[in-house]
Amino acid sequence: MTARFSFAIHATDGRARTGTITMKRGEIRTPAFMPVGTAATVKAMKPGDVRASGADIILGNTYHLMLRPGAERVDRLGGLHGFMGWDRPILTDSGGYQVMSLAELTKRSEDGVAFKSHLDGTRHLLSPERSIEIQRLLGSNIVMAFDELVPTTSTREVQASAMERSMRWAKRSRDAFDAGGQHAEDNAIFGIQQGALDEGFRKSSADALIDIGFDGYAIGGLAVGEGQEAMFGCLDFAPGQLPVEKPRYLMGVGKPTDIVGAVERGVDMFDCVLPTRSGRTGQAFTRQGPINIRNARFAEDQGPLDPACGCPVCGTWSRAYLHHLVRAGEILGAMLMTEHNIWFYQQMMADLRAAIGEGRLTAFADDFRSRYAAGQ
Ligand SMILES: [Zn+2]
Repeated sequence: MTARFSFAIHATDGRARTGTITMKRGEIRTPAFMPVGTAATVKAMKPGDVRASGADIILGNTYHLMLRPGAERVDRLGGLHGFMGWDRPILTDSGGYQVMSLAELTKRSEDGVAFKSHLDGTRHLLSPERSIEIQRLLGSNIVMAFDELVPTTSTREVQASAMERSMRWAKRSRDAFDAGGQHAEDNAIFGIQQGALDEGFRKSSADALIDIGFDGYAIGGLAVGEGQEAMFGCLDFAPGQLPVEKPRYLMGVGKPTDIVGAVERGVDMFDCVLPTRSGRTGQAFTRQGPINIRNARFAEDQGPLDPACGCPVCGTWSRAYLHHLVRAGEILGAMLMTEHNIWFYQQMMADLRAAIGEGRLTAFADDFRSRYAAGQ
């Protein structure tokens, strides 16, 4: 019988690791990139095509799904997996980040967050207990603890008190998770380290989470505008404060070079809207840096988006055709650009895993960065 959740590290290279998370719905090879399926869809892609790109797991957003179509409705329809036609692991966020960035907050207290929907103004409450309940109703396999976020520009006092509240909410999230509910044998829970860019806050947060005990640990509150250098500065100490034997997930990151640098610093899991969102606006990621396919210089370019890419788009269609589709506002343009970008990210993760396994990560990363910067 497959264990509920396990993580095996196969090789390390410096601080980087490659391994496998095993869950009942399948294995997740790490370092892993999770395409974002905000509203029960990885936008512009069918689940089979997401899987074909090499994705082992996708992410769903609690905030969006609780508002539309509603967690109870998804549950009545058999859960997110059957509803959207994806049978492998799904991670859901707690809703904390999005409620605080998208909704109109009406009350913020120790109990939770009261807010008005950005869709229709209806009133809702999100608390640690309700967040876990929603994630369970959705059928999530990796449930995230509910946390409180404040801007990185906040004072130290505000940052410290948000981190401390997040740790109290982490305990309430864990207790709600342990109280059972649906799909209890099929899911795991991750805690989220907070503390902005402060090493001491991060250490206190890590220690509080470890005391509670989680299946994996996320690093939250980064990639919110602090810049790559500051983020890497934090990642020079934050992953090492978390248990070595558990997966570490850097939330909401990021650009290709962010991911390469974070893998070098010991991060195992990532999610970001960048490959899908960029695909819909005409930006393609390539090994020579990102390109904007709308640019006139591609109008008669018969080459593929990226000559080194193994995706079905690069194997079939030219830059000139994609340029035409995107300029003409054709739906297929968004679909093909997204598919290529998701493949680009998954190929990058596979290359990182192979490089770690063969002990040549530094050479791979340096080569990746120099090629990527050369085309920009
Ligand atoms: Zn491609």
